Amino acid sequence: MGVTDDFENASKALPGVAMKIRVETEKCCGHARCASVAPEVYILSDTGYLSTPEILVPDGLVIQARRGARACPERCIVIENETLGRVSGAAYSR
Ligand code: SF4
Repeated sequence: MGVTDDFENASKALPGVAMKIRVETEKCCGHARCASVAPEVYILSDTGYLSTPEILVPDGLVIQARRGARACPERCIVIENETLGRVSGAAYSR
């Protein structure tokens, strides 16, 4: 089962999920830039790190999630997939 299959299954299980994000938690240095621009998506741990390895983003938070990913200087937030039709109308996988 590939990433696309996983995402499609997650989307069916959780209606309204529009994006799957993978966090390379071992690279997180605790800058908190992700949480400062997208506080509803990126919830930091008590020690100030993003320690959630996978985040399923609902439809209304996609733009915020992208901004947060771009804000990370360590590039540890990876957008894995979005709902079919949102990316040039085609499915893709990594
Ligand atoms: S901006 Fe990047 S390095 Fe900083 S807390 Fe968020 S995920 Fe971690």
